[in-house]
Order: sequence, then C-alpha cells, then structure tokens
Amino acid sequence: MQGMNTEVATKIAGWLAEAKNVVVFTGAGVSTESGIPDFRSPGGVWSKYRTVYYDEFMASAEARHEYWQQKAEGHREFADAQPNDGHRVIGQWERDGTIRGVVTQNIDGLHQMGGNREVLELHGTARQILCQDCGARYEAGPLVAEFLETDRVPECGKCATGRLKHATISFGQSLPADVLREAAQWCRQTDLLLAIGSSLVVSPAADLPATAVRNGARLVIINRDTTPLDSLADEVIRESIGTTLMAINACLAS
Ligand SMILES: [Zn+2]
Repeated sequence: MQGMNTEVATKIAGWLAEAKNVVVFTGAGVSTESGIPDFRSPGGVWSKYRTVYYDEFMASAEARHEYWQQKAEGHREFADAQPNDGHRVIGQWERDGTIRGVVTQNIDGLHQMGGNREVLELHGTARQILCQDCGARYEAGPLVAEFLETDRVPECGKCATGRLKHATISFGQSLPADVLREAAQWCRQTDLLLAIGSSLVVSPAADLPATAVRNGARLVIINRDTTPLDSLADEVIRESIGTTLMAINACLAS
C-alpha cells in the first residue's frame, strides 16, 4: 500500500461499510490518472484558445466553427482514454451496492466506461453532440471525424438547420437544473460523501459536499491540493486517487 496509510484506509473502509447511502463526488483529478489534462490547468486546451461563450455560439456561424475546431482538438485528448484504477473501484462499488452513484464535474464519460450506471453529469458529456434547436443527440466521435475531414460544422440529421454542439455546459450556460436538483437531493440524503479529485471551488457544484455535511454526512476528501472544504472534512487524503481507492477497497474486501 505504497503512499497510503493503512490505518486511514481501514477507517474509511469501516465508514463505507456502516454507511447506508454513500455518494461519490468527482472532479478532474479522477481523470488525470487516465491521461486527461485538467482543462483549467496550464497546457490544457483552454489556455491556448480564446473562450467561445454560449451566446456567441448560438449567434454566430463563425463562433460555431471556432468552437468545433477547439472541441475537435480536445476530443483527441480523451477519445482513447481508458478508465483507471480509481474509476474501476468506483464502478465496482456501485455494482456491489457500496455506493448509490456518482455526481461528477467531468465530461469524459469514464465513470460509465468504468462500470457506473448512476452518474449525474453536472457539466454534461463530451461523448455526445446535442442539437440546440431540436434536442436530437448523436455520438460525438463520428461527427468530430466529419468536421476534421470537411472543416465544416456538421448538420443536424433530424432538423437540418439546428445548431450542433457538444452536450457539455459551455461558458455562459447554466448547469442543467434537473441534474443539479437531483444531485442536491442525493447530497441531502447521503450519510457519507467521498469528494474525489475536485478542488471544490467551482460553484454551485462545490456547494454540494457542503450540503451533505450540513445534513449530517461524513465527508472524506481525496485531492492532490487543499480545498476550501478541508476544515469540514472528517478525513483529507492527498495521495494518488487510484492507489487510495484500491487500498480502501482492499480493506473492504478483507
Ligand atoms: Zn436538430
């Protein structure tokens, strides 16, 4: 159990075993171990390009083309990514009933690939394309390939004139109210929340773990850096996420 204190792993495994309703909350840190850069960090796609705001995207064909250019490059960074040890443990925990599900800030779809079914995606998913006009959904891969080949923004196969955008939440766009409502409900009902790989600074998503604590839940934070909620947490772990979850899982199984 390199880098992971066995006593801490045993304690958290004990909390997991006795909790009735466990929610896992994740951010970019879970996916960096799959080679996906944190988009907000230096070297991420968004530090190279200017931001295309949602209103601009909706109003201008030129902005839509620029958006697709950026997204096509971003797509390469995660299209081939595979779930890592952290995703796999979280997936197993849902299958065996240890956790209720995952609330995530990530758009990469790796939790689903890691075996999770109950995933609330606060920022949508980059695995799909959503027509902003008729609501039709498409797999992102083929349309990104089409864009790279033709250098033209793809057309909606259903309504023809609709504006196709990745099914993610853009800058200037509000989070999906229904997803946010359900996530808040999970956080009021949980008795143990594991906040993993999130800096817990982006609102309103970051308020969710605080909601859980206010309602009496235990909070465990696993993140490389300090977070504003560290003082509320029952345990804070700064080790590798994959290693940590594997260690906890080993204690659960024994
Ligand atoms: Zn459409």
